[in-house]
Amino acid sequence: MSLINIFWFRRDLRLHDNTGLYHALQSEHPVLPVFIFDTDILNGLENQDDARVTFIHQRLKELNAELKKYGSSLLVKHGNPLECWQQILDEYALHTLYFNHDYEPYAGERDLKVSELLQSKYVEVCHFKDHVIFEKDEILKDNAKPYTVFTPYKNRWLKELDPSIHLASYQTEKHFKNLYQHDIEMPALKDLGFIKNDIEFPKPDYLDIIENYHQTRNIPSLRGTSHIGLHLRFGTLSVRNIVKDALNSAEKTWLVELIWREFYAMILWHFPHTINSSFKTEYDKIQWRNNEDEFRAWCEGKTGYPLVDAGMRELNATGFMHNRVRMVTASFLTKHLLIDWRWGEAYFAQKLLDYDMASNVGGWQWAAGCGNDAAPYFRIFNPELQAKRFDPQLKYIRKWIPEFDDPFKYPRPIVEHKFARERVLNTYKNALSN
Ligand code: FAD
Repeated sequence: MSLINIFWFRRDLRLHDNTGLYHALQSEHPVLPVFIFDTDILNGLENQDDARVTFIHQRLKELNAELKKYGSSLLVKHGNPLECWQQILDEYALHTLYFNHDYEPYAGERDLKVSELLQSKYVEVCHFKDHVIFEKDEILKDNAKPYTVFTPYKNRWLKELDPSIHLASYQTEKHFKNLYQHDIEMPALKDLGFIKNDIEFPKPDYLDIIENYHQTRNIPSLRGTSHIGLHLRFGTLSVRNIVKDALNSAEKTWLVELIWREFYAMILWHFPHTINSSFKTEYDKIQWRNNEDEFRAWCEGKTGYPLVDAGMRELNATGFMHNRVRMVTASFLTKHLLIDWRWGEAYFAQKLLDYDMASNVGGWQWAAGCGNDAAPYFRIFNPELQAKRFDPQLKYIRKWIPEFDDPFKYPRPIVEHKFARERVLNTYKNALSN
């Protein structure tokens, strides 16, 4: 058997401008592209028609069609990653494994175990930054500690950015002749135990929104934000190209949002315990009410607070929720209903197409007040005022709540705002003074 190299696709489902793939293709051995449907992750999904699985499967089919043009194809495995790698070791003679970094704690542990297995069989392992512009500890304070506040992090990020280095494209297309030549079929979605979800996935277009983003981004009834979270999550777009476009735009607000994404990825990498405990540990003393009926009403968009309900219904129907409304719904769950932010985080994780552990945990802890650089706990969104300000003509609300104008059909508020405000202030005060 002649030696081959492998490129392992994960959060980088594209052939163009892909760091790890580029380095693999430049090596002296042919490159076999591999994807693993990881049952450790898939078994945790609640729905057989999980839209993210449909999206990945569709995208892999597209990748496979592209690879076939160059005489290659994608080797798709399904199972526990270590077992899949053992099978690959049995089937091929490997020289080097290439992959791009994934910063979530589970992925870090998995990659370590896979690397140990391969190295024990004398296979080299090379890994690269691809998912972000600056990773891990590349942006640190002068005292070499991680930033925990966004604005100084952002300023340092902008100062360190050298587009000629950090945004340079990896021109994989020049080396496609080094792809491993074979013809192999992909498993169908049903072979993985899933069924197709017919949800419409957002297109990977964003150029038309950047210039007006600062004016449109807070209006949920408009298509005023890019909806590219899904493409960043699965790497169907290159973050380097996106940041280049953001820099070239006269308006820079959108660039700042992309830096928020990197900030949260950096926080999760330095503080992995925040996936299930508060960044500010004293907030773990809060006595949540965790009323299950109220939680269900929130999930179903039946709280009687129209902006909250519209947001939850948008999420349930499309897998997307506007950022302003994510803030309002998260604040409402944690502050008005005093339900643990982890419940809300888990619900968003189940539903969001663009679910990203770092940004989701960051967003939830921000809303609950327990995160780094979070909103102070006494800042409590008034959902009615938020609706008046950001949806004054009720366009978004009426779109998602067809029965809004019928008082017999649309529920009355689940809790009175003033009462809820007092209650949460007292609860937080008690927890923090103990
Ligand atoms: P745009 O406004 O067009 O922004 C472009 C990109 O910048 C986004 O796709 C995203 O990658 C990044 N971005 C924008 N705002 C933020 C932000 N506040 N924090 C981090 N990155 C940001 N974002 C996720 O990608 N995944 C999540 O699971 C997620 N969960 C959230 C939960 C809560 C409670 C809150 C308040 C926010 C959450 N966000 C999350 C951040 C933000 O709401 C989404 O990134 C944004 O709404 C996605 O829409 P868009 O692609 O149109 O973004």
